[in-house]
Amino acid sequence: MSHKAAILTQLNSPLEIWDIEHASTSFGKTCATGQVRVEMLMSGICGSQLQEIAGNKGNAGFIPHLLGHEGCGIVREVGAGVNVQLIGKKVVCHWRKGEGSDAYLTARYETGGGRTLGGGHVTTLCESAVVSRNRVTVVDDDVPMELCALLGCGLSTALGTVEQEAKLKFGESILIIGCGGVGMNLIQAAKLSCAFPIVACDVNLDKKSAAMYNQATHYINISELFEHPVEKYDVIVDTTGNIQAIEDGIQRLASGGRFIMVGQPKPGQSYRVLSALDMFFGEGKTIIATQGGGFRPHLDIPRYVNLWRSGLLDLTGTISHKLPLEQINDGIDLVRNGLAGRVMISLK
Ligand SMILES: [Zn+2]
Repeated sequence: MSHKAAILTQLNSPLEIWDIEHASTSFGKTCATGQVRVEMLMSGICGSQLQEIAGNKGNAGFIPHLLGHEGCGIVREVGAGVNVQLIGKKVVCHWRKGEGSDAYLTARYETGGGRTLGGGHVTTLCESAVVSRNRVTVVDDDVPMELCALLGCGLSTALGTVEQEAKLKFGESILIIGCGGVGMNLIQAAKLSCAFPIVACDVNLDKKSAAMYNQATHYINISELFEHPVEKYDVIVDTTGNIQAIEDGIQRLASGGRFIMVGQPKPGQSYRVLSALDMFFGEGKTIIATQGGGFRPHLDIPRYVNLWRSGLLDLTGTISHKLPLEQINDGIDLVRNGLAGRVMISLK
């Protein structure tokens, strides 16, 4: 049975919505060993998809291909070596490896014309996805699909960055550069860690109200940051990958400070550590390039669901748009132009 999926058919071009089918494995099943088929309910659009559209993820040779790496769905089928009790379970689809089989094969899809498309080990911007077992984590049925999808990347990255990479302590100061979806979640994570002040920074002043709703204590335009190099911070997180923001931010680290790069610069770009001797100031300083906040899906997603159950996690100020798959290019433009928090794509 065919289903719809967003397909990258050409670099730096709008995605196309194609009707596709799952390619059969050698045993005539949809799932190969170690794979599960997920009926997708919702997916987020992450900055990584923008990088893929630009061909910055080593993906240029695999076009056309499917996209997406944070989603919520229901398992409908499992391949050999996967517990059949997963069928019918609600799952987070995530790009980091969790527990269970790491499928040897990546997912394949077909068009009516016999063309074959790749989906990698996880894909979420489609109505039905074949995913490696270790890219799904089961959650309870009552977990809202928005939360479930965000736990696949953006929210888990933010929580992991603050608690596991930055090891933010009570009362430490934090500067968050870039107030997209991850940035908004970082503000919340900083609040949960009792940081002060929590300074949010973006080029777009329209994001101030959402940042303050998430309990940032200050909101500044990024141009002010560059012009007034006065504040020092215990933790600085850059979500933009912007070279100037990184170079400028590193100079604002306090003694013992940690600078965490979440946003990725473009391939071939370099940044400089200006006044390098300052890196030795006081207790010394650290620069970390994090992979998704180092979150471990099978261990951390259940804890983060508990955090939501405690009432301390409020996603109202995080999700700025909810769009159908047919409008995915509008959503991508919103993210690319810095006009959105998290954009969610409804798939059912
Ligand atoms: Zn992501």
